Amino acid sequence: MITTLKTNITVKDICEGFVYNELEGKGLFGLSGKLTIQPEYQRNYLYKDEKREASVIESILKKYPIGLIYFNKVNKDKFEVLDGQQRITSIGRFVTGKFPIKDENGHEQYFDGMAPEKRTRIENTKLLIYECEGEEADIMNWFETINIAGIPLNEQEKNNAVYFGPFVTHAKQEFSNSKNANIQKWNSYINGTARRQDFLHTALDWVSASKGITIREYMSSHRRATDIKELKTYFNNVLDWVSGVFTDVETEMRGLEWGRLYEKFHKKNYNPEKLSGEVQKFLTDSFVTDRKGIFEYILGGSQDKKLLNIRVFSEAVKKDTYSKQTAEAEKKGKSNCSYCAIGHDANKSKIWKLSEMDADHVTAWSKGGKTAINNCEMLCKPHNRAKGNR
Ligand SMILES: [Zn+2]
Repeated sequence: MITTLKTNITVKDICEGFVYNELEGKGLFGLSGKLTIQPEYQRNYLYKDEKREASVIESILKKYPIGLIYFNKVNKDKFEVLDGQQRITSIGRFVTGKFPIKDENGHEQYFDGMAPEKRTRIENTKLLIYECEGEEADIMNWFETINIAGIPLNEQEKNNAVYFGPFVTHAKQEFSNSKNANIQKWNSYINGTARRQDFLHTALDWVSASKGITIREYMSSHRRATDIKELKTYFNNVLDWVSGVFTDVETEMRGLEWGRLYEKFHKKNYNPEKLSGEVQKFLTDSFVTDRKGIFEYILGGSQDKKLLNIRVFSEAVKKDTYSKQTAEAEKKGKSNCSYCAIGHDANKSKIWKLSEMDADHVTAWSKGGKTAINNCEMLCKPHNRAKGNR
């Protein structure tokens, strides 16, 4: 890779022929059409708040440096912004009158309304630009490792950069488009935003996991694909299944591993009405401390209590119960574990140490037993484990 530092390109040069796409919220071209501001493999424009945009302009007015900008030199007359897209878009948007900044007196000023001296100062500011030339793979590799100014790229944004091509372009049109009418539904089950590629990431995660491969393997093998049928269909299948099985949308559903749950449970039959009642019951049960585990617990036939992280007995309650049980057991000459005491082996008179015992619900939590001292019994660890497995 050859890099050349350019110090004579001005704001005016960059903004010549600046085109901003309002709908997609991204800067498209500059430098008299020679510069592509947001190539396919770039992240979406992220400075959505004008405060951050204004700070770029204020820095220029104060002659503060705004940092290095990197161009990929495709040929003599064609460049793409590798890093600095957000700063360039902010500058272009300001110069074309898209937003104002506040002057010394706190008045809003658009570019056209500024004193000529200030306008000239902005236009004549020279930017520090590195032009990089080389093999695509080389440049992509390097691009992947840079995390310069601004918001760092997340994993999916890096993947989009590395595997850019028709597939990513189509996939972004569906999953990274903030105007997609399905986003509200997606947000019931998935954390994040279209802008930061969270829906695309989830869709790829689900479909690749169902094939036992990684997201990168999936993206790599589909890189030249001209449609996203499989990706979209699988994603919709998962969401249709969830919304069919759990008819009420609960905030606890957001961000669960729905793809994995779909693979594990979608062939089973469920009665949505019955499930709805169970969800409500567990959501209002104060002994359930992991409410996000409720859905998998129910799907699995209400067996695996670990998923709910049922509230446990406090150390004080355990100690109290242990003292009482042990004193009584010693009086009778029997084991302080009631299961050992009724047995016939050597343990029937064994006094276990507190550290060798675990607390158990006398009336099971699933049968309405509370996690309270009058429902606590200490059992030796082997017996407690055996009981828990039944
Ligand atoms: Zn025992």
